[in-house]
Amino acid sequence: MRYISTRGNYNPVESTKAIILGMVPKGGLFVPESLPNIDLTDLKGKNYKEVAFEVMKNFLTGSENDFSEDEIKMAIEKAYNTEKFDTSEICPLKKIKERFYILELWHGPTAAFKDIALQIMPHLFVISMEKQNHKKESVILVATSGDTGKAALEGFKNVPKTKIIVFYPSGGVSKVQELQMTTTDGKNTYVIGVEGNFDDCQTMVKKIFADSEFKEEVSRRGFEFSSANSINWGRLLPQIVYYFWAYLKLIEDGALYFGDEVNICVPTGNFGNILAAYYAKRMGLPVKMLICASNSNNVLSDFINTGVYNSDREFFKTFSPSMDILISSNLERFLFEISSRNPQKIIRWYEELLKDKRFKVDESTKTRIKKELYGNYATEAETLSEIKEMFFSYNYLIDPHTAVGVNVYKKYLAETRDETPLILCSTASPYKFNNAVYMALTGKNAYDDEFLTLSELNEITGFKIPANLKNLQELKTIHRTTIKLSEAKNIIRKILRIGGKKLCLKHSRR
Ligand SMILES: *Cc1c(COP(=O)(O)O)cnc(C)c1O
Repeated sequence: MRYISTRGNYNPVESTKAIILGMVPKGGLFVPESLPNIDLTDLKGKNYKEVAFEVMKNFLTGSENDFSEDEIKMAIEKAYNTEKFDTSEICPLKKIKERFYILELWHGPTAAFKDIALQIMPHLFVISMEKQNHKKESVILVATSGDTGKAALEGFKNVPKTKIIVFYPSGGVSKVQELQMTTTDGKNTYVIGVEGNFDDCQTMVKKIFADSEFKEEVSRRGFEFSSANSINWGRLLPQIVYYFWAYLKLIEDGALYFGDEVNICVPTGNFGNILAAYYAKRMGLPVKMLICASNSNNVLSDFINTGVYNSDREFFKTFSPSMDILISSNLERFLFEISSRNPQKIIRWYEELLKDKRFKVDESTKTRIKKELYGNYATEAETLSEIKEMFFSYNYLIDPHTAVGVNVYKKYLAETRDETPLILCSTASPYKFNNAVYMALTGKNAYDDEFLTLSELNEITGFKIPANLKNLQELKTIHRTTIKLSEAKNIIRKILRIGGKKLCLKHSRR
């Protein structure tokens, strides 16, 4: 399959090239030249890995420089097994009540949904490097506010010909998140605390990507910088799979017949997860409405309802931090599709966004968007009260991101009375966000020690703690380096053993 740019500014490339490049060098995102059609009845009775193969092969094969079927199967085998996931179903679908199902996307190594993509993407990446004849070792640089860092570390851990370096704001992530990262083993993993906040880390990494002199320096020593961020097609594609999977489970459960419609509700930040659902629809999955759930950073739900994307607004830190985003990068792909693949429109809107921090789509685009998407948001109080209600009404524990989804679904139901069966994406284990869940259930503030909160939550609810969170306290802390922002390049040199000035590293012991 060949990939084209949403801004019409790049010659079509093969899948392996699109995955290596991540984004279009001159701006824009790669999208498949055409969207394949999947016959649902062909998927009947298949397990998760088989469904993954049937969906993904359409996008990754075709030419000599694409993947072979065996390579795709191998990548799937390495990613979706019971060593990495705590269930062979990979993404179990739980029935809450008639016509209301929750798709649990957090059974991977880090207990949040980014694992589904980041467990397989590194394998696709390494194969792509081989196919494209890249001889250099890839150095993946990641700035994280907590979740993505650990998911990327687990994904790239011990993957040949790669190193991964994660920068996180020291003191700016939760105890669980910090321990998850600093206890990561593996021969090629590096975790560095930075004195600064997440924006500082992010800006620092972006500067390194733009520093051609430094890139040249590491290149002479046989290294090449890369990123693993969510606009890479290799991260989006694995997410299309679980929508087909969930539909098959609904049929097995007797909730639908082949061809019946479903609604899908997704707690949304960067618009990646919900975009995958839209692609599934375009490939033949009978989806009636995509319900886009935002938290108080409701830039997307405002956009859906008004046609104006306005990122010039107050930023809130919420109970659902992985959705605290004002620029939803993957929206560009959706706008490209919804405007019948018109790069001129995309260029205009994104130039406006850069210049004025906002853009407005035309009436006909707005109408089309509203036909596909319902958008609304949940306040902080509503988020907590949904956690409580789901637990006391259905004995089912959800995290704050999932709670945002539940709340917005209720608003959709109240407005439309549309009782089409629902698949709601649950994006994190409740034990990953202990403090908010504890507050929701007890009405009290959580303990300073997050592990105390976690174990008391477990006592109150009896809900199973994912093994990889439970044993976190017993793991040895491996990574103890904290640096100042100005020391970033030197620490990279040191990791790559390419010299550099003597470093005075601060070791923080906890
Ligand atoms: C990343 C993330 C989201 C948002 O997903 P997008 O693909 O960015 O829309 C929601 N919930 C959790 C827990 C996440 O980590």
